[in-house]
Amino acid sequence: MAGPLLEIRNLTKHFPIKGGVFARTVGLVKAVDGVSLTIHEGETVGLVGESGCGKSTLGRAILKLIQPTSGSILFQGQDITAWDAARMRPMRRNMQIIFQDPASSLNPRMTVGDLIGEAFVIQGMAPDRAEREAKIQELLSRVGLRPEHINRYPHEFSGGQRQRIGIARSLAVHPGFIVCDEPISALDVSIQGQILNLLMDLQRDLGLTYLFIAHDLKAVEHMSDRVAVMYLGKVVELAGSDDLYREPAHPYSRALLSAVPNPDPAQRKERIVLKGDVPSPINPPSGCAFHPRCPMAQERCSRETPELREVKPGHHAACHFAG
Ligand code: SF4
Repeated sequence: MAGPLLEIRNLTKHFPIKGGVFARTVGLVKAVDGVSLTIHEGETVGLVGESGCGKSTLGRAILKLIQPTSGSILFQGQDITAWDAARMRPMRRNMQIIFQDPASSLNPRMTVGDLIGEAFVIQGMAPDRAEREAKIQELLSRVGLRPEHINRYPHEFSGGQRQRIGIARSLAVHPGFIVCDEPISALDVSIQGQILNLLMDLQRDLGLTYLFIAHDLKAVEHMSDRVAVMYLGKVVELAGSDDLYREPAHPYSRALLSAVPNPDPAQRKERIVLKGDVPSPINPPSGCAFHPRCPMAQERCSRETPELREVKPGHHAACHFAG
Protein backbone atom coordinates (compact mmCIF):
# COMPACT_ATOMS: atom_id res chain seq x y z
CA MET A 1 0.00 0.00 0.00
CA ALA A 2 1.17 3.54 -0.82
CA GLY A 3 2.20 5.88 2.02
CA PRO A 4 -0.21 8.05 3.99
CA LEU A 5 -1.58 11.04 2.13
CA LEU A 6 -3.64 12.26 5.06
CA GLU A 7 -3.30 11.64 8.77
CA ILE A 8 -5.68 13.08 11.29
CA ARG A 9 -4.97 12.68 14.96
CA ASN A 10 -7.51 13.12 17.74
CA LEU A 11 -9.45 15.68 15.71
CA THR A 12 -12.34 17.46 17.40
CA LYS A 13 -14.86 20.02 16.24
CA HIS A 14 -17.06 21.42 18.99
CA PHE A 15 -19.63 24.11 18.20
CA PRO A 16 -20.45 26.47 21.08
CA ILE A 17 -24.10 26.97 22.04
CA LYS A 18 -24.71 30.57 23.02
CA GLY A 19 -27.40 31.61 25.51
CA GLY A 20 -28.55 34.46 27.77
CA VAL A 21 -28.36 38.22 27.19
CA PHE A 22 -24.56 38.17 27.02
CA ALA A 23 -24.56 35.30 24.50
CA ARG A 24 -22.24 33.31 26.70
CA THR A 25 -21.26 29.75 25.83
CA VAL A 26 -23.70 27.55 27.71
CA GLY A 27 -22.84 24.24 26.07
CA LEU A 28 -20.98 22.48 23.26
CA VAL A 29 -22.16 20.39 20.34
CA LYS A 30 -19.44 17.75 20.07
CA ALA A 31 -19.90 17.12 16.34
CA VAL A 32 -16.48 15.46 15.93
CA ASP A 33 -14.98 14.11 19.12
CA GLY A 34 -11.47 12.72 18.90
CA VAL A 35 -11.19 11.07 15.48
CA SER A 36 -7.91 9.57 14.27
CA LEU A 37 -7.71 8.24 10.72
CA THR A 38 -5.05 7.64 8.08
CA ILE A 39 -5.86 7.65 4.38
CA HIS A 40 -3.31 6.25 1.91
CA GLU A 41 -2.66 7.48 -1.60
CA GLY A 42 -5.03 6.01 -4.14
CA GLU A 43 -7.45 4.45 -1.65
CA THR A 44 -11.06 5.19 -0.86
CA VAL A 45 -12.08 5.33 2.75
CA GLY A 46 -15.84 5.23 3.26
CA LEU A 47 -17.44 7.06 6.16
CA VAL A 48 -20.88 5.89 7.30
CA GLY A 49 -23.30 6.56 10.12
CA GLU A 50 -26.74 7.99 10.76
CA SER A 51 -27.61 11.63 10.07
CA GLY A 52 -26.02 13.96 12.59
CA CYS A 53 -23.18 11.58 13.54
CA GLY A 54 -20.54 14.10 12.39
CA LYS A 55 -19.56 12.66 8.99
CA SER A 56 -19.89 15.87 7.00
CA THR A 57 -18.39 18.00 9.76
CA LEU A 58 -15.37 15.69 9.79
CA GLY A 59 -15.02 16.00 5.99
CA ARG A 60 -15.16 19.78 6.16
CA ALA A 61 -12.76 19.97 9.11
CA ILE A 62 -10.22 17.81 7.25
CA LEU A 63 -10.34 20.26 4.34
CA LYS A 64 -10.22 23.19 6.78
CA LEU A 65 -13.46 24.58 5.38
CA ILE A 66 -14.19 24.83 9.09
CA GLN A 67 -11.43 25.19 11.65
CA PRO A 68 -11.06 22.15 13.94
CA THR A 69 -11.24 22.78 17.69
CA SER A 70 -8.25 20.57 18.50
CA GLY A 71 -6.17 17.71 17.14
CA SER A 72 -4.01 17.70 14.04
CA ILE A 73 -4.26 17.24 10.27
CA LEU A 74 -1.19 16.15 8.32
CA PHE A 75 -1.49 16.31 4.54
CA GLN A 76 1.44 15.03 2.48
CA GLY A 77 3.42 15.06 5.70
CA GLN A 78 2.77 18.75 6.45
CA ASP A 79 0.85 19.77 9.55
CA ILE A 80 -1.81 22.10 8.10
CA THR A 81 -3.93 22.32 11.26
CA ALA A 82 -3.08 25.94 12.07
CA TRP A 83 -2.64 27.21 8.50
CA ASP A 84 -4.69 30.32 7.69
CA ALA A 85 -6.72 30.83 4.49
CA ALA A 86 -3.82 32.45 2.57
CA ARG A 87 -1.45 29.61 3.39
CA MET A 88 -4.13 27.03 2.57
CA ARG A 89 -4.87 28.49 -0.89
CA PRO A 90 -2.14 26.63 -2.84
CA MET A 91 -2.92 23.47 -0.85
CA ARG A 92 -6.59 23.69 -1.90
CA ARG A 93 -5.58 22.64 -5.41
CA ASN A 94 -4.84 19.29 -3.95
CA MET A 95 -7.84 18.98 -1.60
CA GLN A 96 -11.29 19.33 -3.10
CA ILE A 97 -14.90 18.51 -2.21
CA ILE A 98 -17.90 17.23 -4.15
CA PHE A 99 -21.10 18.36 -2.45
CA GLN A 100 -24.32 16.48 -1.88
CA ASP A 101 -26.64 18.85 -3.64
CA PRO A 102 -25.25 20.14 -6.93
CA ALA A 103 -28.31 22.41 -7.34
CA SER A 104 -27.36 24.49 -4.31
CA SER A 105 -23.58 24.35 -4.76
CA LEU A 106 -23.64 25.79 -8.31
CA ASN A 107 -24.40 29.49 -8.76
CA PRO A 108 -27.51 29.55 -11.04
CA ARG A 109 -26.44 32.83 -12.66
CA MET A 110 -23.12 31.47 -13.93
CA THR A 111 -22.62 29.39 -17.06
CA VAL A 112 -20.96 26.02 -16.79
CA GLY A 113 -17.87 27.56 -18.36
CA ASP A 114 -17.74 30.30 -15.71
CA LEU A 115 -18.41 27.86 -12.87
CA ILE A 116 -15.54 25.59 -13.86
CA GLY A 117 -13.34 28.46 -15.05
CA GLU A 118 -13.70 30.16 -11.67
CA ALA A 119 -11.70 27.36 -10.10
CA PHE A 120 -8.84 28.04 -12.55
CA VAL A 121 -8.97 31.79 -11.85
CA ILE A 122 -8.94 31.37 -8.05
CA GLN A 123 -5.87 29.18 -8.32
CA GLY A 124 -4.16 31.38 -10.95
CA MET A 125 -4.23 28.55 -13.49
CA ALA A 126 -4.89 28.86 -17.24
CA PRO A 127 -5.04 32.68 -17.29
CA ASP A 128 -5.46 32.73 -21.09
CA ARG A 129 -9.16 32.57 -22.09
CA ALA A 130 -8.72 30.22 -25.07
CA GLU A 131 -6.58 27.85 -23.04
CA ARG A 132 -9.14 27.95 -20.23
CA GLU A 133 -12.02 27.10 -22.57
CA ALA A 134 -10.12 24.21 -24.07
CA LYS A 135 -9.43 22.82 -20.59
CA ILE A 136 -13.06 23.26 -19.54
CA GLN A 137 -14.30 21.43 -22.65
CA GLU A 138 -11.84 18.61 -22.01
CA LEU A 139 -13.10 18.36 -18.42
CA LEU A 140 -16.73 18.28 -19.57
CA SER A 141 -15.95 15.37 -21.89
CA ARG A 142 -14.12 13.58 -19.11
CA VAL A 143 -17.18 13.69 -16.83
CA GLY A 144 -19.56 12.58 -19.61
CA LEU A 145 -20.92 15.96 -20.72
CA ARG A 146 -20.56 17.59 -24.12
CA PRO A 147 -18.07 20.39 -24.90
CA GLU A 148 -20.92 22.62 -26.14
CA HIS A 149 -22.48 22.51 -22.66
CA ILE A 150 -19.92 25.15 -21.70
CA ASN A 151 -22.36 28.02 -22.39
CA ARG A 152 -25.39 26.59 -20.60
CA TYR A 153 -26.70 27.36 -17.10
CA PRO A 154 -27.13 24.82 -14.27
CA HIS A 155 -30.96 24.82 -14.50
CA GLU A 156 -30.73 23.46 -18.06
CA PHE A 157 -29.33 20.18 -16.74
CA SER A 158 -30.76 17.17 -14.90
CA GLY A 159 -29.67 16.39 -11.32
CA GLY A 160 -27.15 13.79 -12.50
CA GLN A 161 -25.68 16.18 -15.08
CA ARG A 162 -25.40 18.91 -12.44
CA GLN A 163 -23.46 16.52 -10.24
CA ARG A 164 -21.16 15.86 -13.21
CA ILE A 165 -20.60 19.64 -13.43
CA GLY A 166 -19.77 19.67 -9.70
CA ILE A 167 -17.28 16.86 -10.25
CA ALA A 168 -15.69 18.69 -13.22
CA ARG A 169 -15.36 21.79 -11.04
CA SER A 170 -13.56 19.80 -8.35
CA LEU A 171 -11.25 18.22 -10.92
CA ALA A 172 -10.35 21.53 -12.59
CA VAL A 173 -7.37 22.16 -10.32
CA HIS A 174 -5.96 18.59 -10.56
CA PRO A 175 -6.54 17.54 -6.95
CA GLY A 176 -5.06 14.38 -5.46
CA PHE A 177 -7.60 14.12 -2.64
CA ILE A 178 -11.37 14.62 -2.83
CA VAL A 179 -13.96 14.51 -0.07
CA CYS A 180 -17.12 13.14 -1.69
CA ASP A 181 -19.82 14.37 0.71
CA GLU A 182 -22.98 12.33 0.06
CA PRO A 183 -22.46 12.77 -3.70
CA ILE A 184 -25.39 10.58 -4.75
CA SER A 185 -27.99 11.04 -2.02
CA ALA A 186 -29.81 13.89 -3.81
CA LEU A 187 -29.99 11.91 -7.07
CA ASP A 188 -32.51 9.50 -8.57
CA VAL A 189 -31.66 5.88 -7.82
CA SER A 190 -31.38 5.24 -11.57
CA ILE A 191 -28.59 7.84 -11.82
CA GLN A 192 -26.69 6.98 -8.65
CA GLY A 193 -24.82 4.02 -10.17
CA GLN A 194 -23.63 6.12 -13.11
CA ILE A 195 -22.13 8.73 -10.78
CA LEU A 196 -20.46 6.05 -8.64
CA ASN A 197 -18.96 4.46 -11.76
CA LEU A 198 -17.76 7.86 -12.97
CA LEU A 199 -16.05 8.48 -9.62
CA MET A 200 -14.37 5.07 -9.80
CA ASP A 201 -13.22 5.61 -13.41
CA LEU A 202 -11.77 9.00 -12.48
CA GLN A 203 -9.98 7.48 -9.52
CA ARG A 204 -8.41 4.81 -11.72
CA ASP A 205 -7.43 7.26 -14.49
CA LEU A 206 -6.21 10.14 -12.32
CA GLY A 207 -4.92 8.28 -9.26
CA LEU A 208 -7.33 10.07 -6.91
CA THR A 209 -7.76 9.42 -3.20
CA TYR A 210 -11.28 9.68 -1.78
CA LEU A 211 -12.98 10.13 1.54
CA PHE A 212 -16.42 8.87 0.53
CA ILE A 213 -19.15 10.01 2.92
CA ALA A 214 -22.58 8.42 2.56
CA HIS A 215 -25.42 6.92 4.53
CA ASP A 216 -26.08 4.43 1.71
CA LEU A 217 -24.17 1.39 2.97
CA LYS A 218 -24.35 -0.45 -0.36
CA ALA A 219 -22.78 2.51 -2.17
CA VAL A 220 -20.02 2.71 0.43
CA GLU A 221 -19.28 -1.01 0.10
CA HIS A 222 -19.11 -0.65 -3.69
CA MET A 223 -16.71 2.30 -3.53
CA SER A 224 -14.47 1.76 -0.53
CA ASP A 225 -11.25 -0.09 0.28
CA ARG A 226 -11.75 0.60 3.98
CA VAL A 227 -14.76 1.82 5.90
CA ALA A 228 -15.05 3.87 9.10
CA VAL A 229 -18.34 3.79 11.03
CA MET A 230 -19.16 6.92 13.03
CA TYR A 231 -21.47 7.28 16.00
CA LEU A 232 -21.95 10.55 17.89
CA GLY A 233 -18.77 12.16 16.63
CA LYS A 234 -16.47 9.17 17.11
CA VAL A 235 -15.23 6.38 14.85
CA VAL A 236 -16.52 3.17 16.46
CA GLU A 237 -15.27 0.73 13.83
CA LEU A 238 -12.66 0.84 11.08
CA ALA A 239 -11.82 -2.09 8.81
CA GLY A 240 -11.32 -3.29 5.25
CA SER A 241 -14.60 -3.05 3.40
CA ASP A 242 -14.97 -6.83 2.80
CA ASP A 243 -14.08 -7.61 6.39
CA LEU A 244 -16.43 -5.04 7.89
CA TYR A 245 -19.41 -6.01 5.74
CA ARG A 246 -18.85 -9.74 6.29
CA GLU A 247 -18.05 -9.66 9.99
CA PRO A 248 -18.82 -6.35 11.71
CA ALA A 249 -17.31 -6.31 15.19
CA HIS A 250 -19.22 -3.42 16.76
CA PRO A 251 -22.89 -3.83 17.76
CA TYR A 252 -23.75 -0.51 16.10
CA SER A 253 -22.23 -1.58 12.76
CA ARG A 254 -24.05 -4.92 13.05
CA ALA A 255 -27.35 -3.08 13.50
CA LEU A 256 -26.69 -0.75 10.56
CA LEU A 257 -25.72 -3.61 8.28
CA SER A 258 -28.65 -5.78 9.33
CA ALA A 259 -30.95 -3.14 7.77
CA VAL A 260 -29.31 -3.42 4.32
CA PRO A 261 -31.53 -5.48 2.00
CA ASN A 262 -29.70 -8.49 0.57
CA PRO A 263 -31.10 -10.24 -2.52
CA ASP A 264 -29.30 -13.49 -1.53
CA PRO A 265 -31.42 -15.29 1.11
CA ALA A 266 -28.34 -17.20 2.36
CA GLN A 267 -26.59 -13.92 3.14
CA ARG A 268 -29.53 -12.22 4.83
CA LYS A 269 -29.01 -11.23 8.44
CA GLU A 270 -31.65 -10.96 11.12
CA ARG A 271 -32.73 -7.32 11.40
CA ILE A 272 -31.49 -5.65 14.61
CA VAL A 273 -33.79 -2.79 15.52
CA LEU A 274 -32.11 -0.22 17.76
CA LYS A 275 -33.98 1.31 20.68
CA GLY A 276 -34.66 5.05 20.61
CA ASP A 277 -33.01 7.81 18.60
CA VAL A 278 -29.41 8.95 18.37
CA PRO A 279 -28.76 10.94 21.60
CA SER A 280 -27.88 14.61 21.41
CA PRO A 281 -24.20 15.40 20.79
CA ILE A 282 -24.65 18.27 23.29
CA ASN A 283 -24.81 15.88 26.17
CA PRO A 284 -23.70 12.44 24.96
CA PRO A 285 -24.22 9.43 27.25
CA SER A 286 -21.41 8.54 29.66
CA GLY A 287 -18.99 5.69 29.02
CA CYS A 288 -19.75 4.08 25.66
CA ALA A 289 -22.06 6.65 24.02
CA PHE A 290 -23.91 3.79 22.31
CA HIS A 291 -24.86 2.08 25.59
CA PRO A 292 -28.49 3.34 25.90
CA ARG A 293 -29.29 1.70 22.51
CA CYS A 294 -26.90 -1.23 22.52
CA PRO A 295 -28.47 -4.71 22.66
CA MET A 296 -25.26 -6.05 24.27
CA ALA A 297 -24.70 -3.31 26.86
CA GLN A 298 -23.55 -4.28 30.34
CA GLU A 299 -23.07 -2.32 33.54
CA ARG A 300 -19.48 -1.43 32.68
CA CYS A 301 -20.52 0.23 29.41
CA SER A 302 -22.10 3.28 31.06
CA ARG A 303 -18.93 3.92 33.10
CA GLU A 304 -15.98 3.16 30.82
CA THR A 305 -15.39 4.64 27.38
CA PRO A 306 -14.07 1.93 25.05
CA GLU A 307 -10.98 2.79 23.01
CA LEU A 308 -10.84 2.13 19.28
CA ARG A 309 -8.51 -0.90 19.35
CA GLU A 310 -7.35 -3.55 16.92
CA VAL A 311 -9.55 -6.60 17.43
CA LYS A 312 -7.95 -8.55 14.58
CA PRO A 313 -5.32 -7.56 12.02
CA GLY A 314 -6.42 -4.34 10.31
CA HIS A 315 -9.82 -4.36 12.02
CA HIS A 316 -10.50 -1.83 14.79
CA ALA A 317 -13.56 -1.51 17.01
CA ALA A 318 -14.50 0.60 20.04
CA CYS A 319 -16.37 -1.94 22.13
CA HIS A 320 -15.28 -3.55 25.41
CA PHE A 321 -16.43 -6.94 24.18
CA ALA A 322 -15.38 -6.95 20.52
CA GLY A 323 -12.80 -9.44 19.28
FE1 SF4 B 1 -22.41 -2.01 23.46
FE2 SF4 B 1 -20.92 -1.92 25.67
FE3 SF4 B 1 -19.79 -2.50 23.35
FE4 SF4 B 1 -20.67 -0.05 23.83
S1 SF4 B 1 -18.99 -1.10 24.88
S2 SF4 B 1 -20.95 -1.20 21.98
S3 SF4 B 1 -22.48 -0.46 25.02
S4 SF4 B 1 -21.32 -3.73 24.43
